[in-house]
Amino acid sequence: MGCRTRVASNVNGLDGSFNRGNVACVTLNLVQLAYQAEHDIDKFFELLQENMDDAKKLLLHRFYLLCKQGVFDDVYKKGYYLGAEKKDAYAMLKNGTLSIGFIGLWDAVSVLINEGIYSIDMMRKNFQLAYSIIQRMRDYTDQATKTECLNISLLASAAEGVTGNFAQYDSMHLGREFDVCKKGFYTNSFHVPVDLSVNYKDKIDMEGRFHHLCNGGSITYIELNEMPGINVEAVKEIVEYAYENDCNYIGINFPMDNCKTCGFIGRISDKCPCCKSVDISRLRRVSGYLSEEKSFTSGKHKELKQRKSHLYFNEWGDNRDD
Ligand SMILES: [Zn+2]
Repeated sequence: MGCRTRVASNVNGLDGSFNRGNVACVTLNLVQLAYQAEHDIDKFFELLQENMDDAKKLLLHRFYLLCKQGVFDDVYKKGYYLGAEKKDAYAMLKNGTLSIGFIGLWDAVSVLINEGIYSIDMMRKNFQLAYSIIQRMRDYTDQATKTECLNISLLASAAEGVTGNFAQYDSMHLGREFDVCKKGFYTNSFHVPVDLSVNYKDKIDMEGRFHHLCNGGSITYIELNEMPGINVEAVKEIVEYAYENDCNYIGINFPMDNCKTCGFIGRISDKCPCCKSVDISRLRRVSGYLSEEKSFTSGKHKELKQRKSHLYFNEWGDNRDD
């Protein structure tokens, strides 16, 4: 689970995130289900149902195992979790969430319709199909919350490493060469494909419509080509636009390079512009937390190369979009 995890409603006690957390999560590979369905949308929904059943079973297995074998003496003593005063693992953990996440919504749609998603217009044309997939998952988790009396939520997406891992697994095991596998990564959750050129408003308009379905948490990020510098107004515009268009949580990404020799911070191509050093730390964020580019997995490297910016700044921090 990542920073986007949301803990809100509670069928077993007080709502809100105070002294509560996500107990367990799993991630469904929507792209693999789309391959298995072989362009048959009804078949895809059957497979989705089966996989949601399996995901729920797995979550319940983990939850009850933790209730039985977990050691929480310190949590009980310090009252870190809602219900800790009862000194009973089930009475306490039932206040947490169990989340089903998903990866590659638009890659899955692309496989189902047997066409690449090359433009925002194609996304608009296929929006109903994409939305119905997420709606179906949310209906399932709502129903499961009632039948299990546990907070089962829908998370977009649950785990960060799966963007590369799932694509790699599928390209090795499906036995066919698929375009989306060849990219080396799947696009996270309901995000606009990372290699699509769209401006930040179109990205927010599209993604904002999915946030309310993902009660276990979701994020929309906006990629800037440069550090925004002192251009506070441009950043404010992005935040306000996302707020007005139903994004529960947003991130703004931009590349930041740091010369380890003289401390210069900015965009550095090969050598530091001040001291000519090549000892450069390059901080980036791709489906997860800020990290040095050199420590990325191969899936994240491939994704980073294909990512397009949604708002362009020049080196002085002026934006030249609209
Ligand atoms: Zn330097």
